[in-house]
Amino acid sequence: MKRVAVLGGGPAGSVAAARLAEAGLDTILLDEKLAWEKPCGGGITWKAYSQYPFLIDNDAPRKVIRRTLLTETRAGTATLELTEPLLIYARKDLNGMLLERAARMGARIEKERALSLERRNGGWRVRTRCGAIEADYLIVATGARNSLREVGTQYTARDSMCALGYYVPVEQNHVEIQFFPGFEGYIWVFPRCGHLSAGICGKNQASAAMRQRLEDWMDERGISRRDAVFYGHMIPALERPSWRSNRVSGEGWAAVGDAAGLVDPVTGEGIYYAVRSGDLAAQTLLDEAHAPSAKHAVYRSLLHQDFIEDLAFAAGLAKRFFLQQVLMSSVPGRMIEFMRRSPSMTAIVQDLFAGTQNYLALKSRLLNSLNGTMLEAVMGAILSRRVVKEGEA
Ligand SMILES: Cc1cc2nc3c(=O)[nH]c(=O)nc-3n(C[C@H](O)[C@H](O)[C@H](O)COP(=O)(O)OP(=O)(O)OC[C@H]3O[C@@H](n4cnc5c(N)ncnc54)[C@H](O)[C@@H]3O)c2cc1C
Repeated sequence: MKRVAVLGGGPAGSVAAARLAEAGLDTILLDEKLAWEKPCGGGITWKAYSQYPFLIDNDAPRKVIRRTLLTETRAGTATLELTEPLLIYARKDLNGMLLERAARMGARIEKERALSLERRNGGWRVRTRCGAIEADYLIVATGARNSLREVGTQYTARDSMCALGYYVPVEQNHVEIQFFPGFEGYIWVFPRCGHLSAGICGKNQASAAMRQRLEDWMDERGISRRDAVFYGHMIPALERPSWRSNRVSGEGWAAVGDAAGLVDPVTGEGIYYAVRSGDLAAQTLLDEAHAPSAKHAVYRSLLHQDFIEDLAFAAGLAKRFFLQQVLMSSVPGRMIEFMRRSPSMTAIVQDLFAGTQNYLALKSRLLNSLNGTMLEAVMGAILSRRVVKEGEA
């Protein structure tokens, strides 16, 4: 393989390009904007920065968050003192740092939009505004709004959450998460250096109603929108059946990050999966044990072993978590009540925040740690598939 073109320079593309260029491959990365304030909370979990230390060992400004307030309308608030802090970056800073790192490793970075793709002599011709580039392999890292229709996830209307919010010029040092009964989503406040990102994400909701809900909540909390900047975007949130048919790779290409739908469907965490998939795609290309024609299948199988099975399971869980009633209360409401009473429950939520508790193992941990209490029955019910049938999830 002589040249790889990486299309998109968010976390997924930059990490893939850095690893390929570091190994000596001719790597060109195209991004239409380069470092920009991509709508995002910017939160990076302990799982992400402990596995990829360059996410913490750098000079980019970020907040280190040790306290989170979790609130549900009826249940009130529980405070979580994070044993493994959350890092929060403005995305322009994070993307800039990762692009610089890729350039340092030897990747050629160009501010260009990939307009269309053409398969040629076993390779690719990528058309841009200034002409075209030729490449032997493509890493597709163009994010959730990928316009290159022949590669990457084919989203249906049910496979994403709508997300919108405000960057507010206010300093704060703790995260806030607000749940509402019967609402499939949540409000967040993520403090960054010099401002905070206050937003709402939800599935199957009209964006105007979500914006109103967020603004009412901000008014109640006294968070002024004066000088605040509005943003909106989509968060991939694949339904369970969509994970099975998800188009993550094909002959001569691999999609990474949001372009492959690789986001936690419960929390919306995507930066870790962008970085991880960028790394795995590069690893597959560099591994000479596999013929070029087999690489797309190898990459797909690596993703499944690594995290797709867990995220596909989580897709079924998401609806039950947000919408199911347990003993006349919402699941987040019960979770908050139990956190106030049970150190075991708090420890589990800690690990969910740190990203170290996978969903497939959650049920057995809940049953083991909460044995003999009413929680056992309640949490068992949440994790069973009784209420929402597979096809509906
Ligand atoms: C409101 C919101 C809040 C979020 N909060 C969090 C959070 O706190 N923590 C977390 O982990 N995740 C969060 N996410 C998810 C996270 O933002 C994404 O999962 C992550 O950015 C995915 O990285 P990526 O590199 O795959 O894509 P992106 O970051 O979207 O990067 C794609 C890049 O491709 C470029 N591009 C697109 N098309 C082309 C083209 N044709 N040619 C050239 N360049 C192109 C774009 O300019 C962009 O730079 C949030 C998402 C949203 C919408």
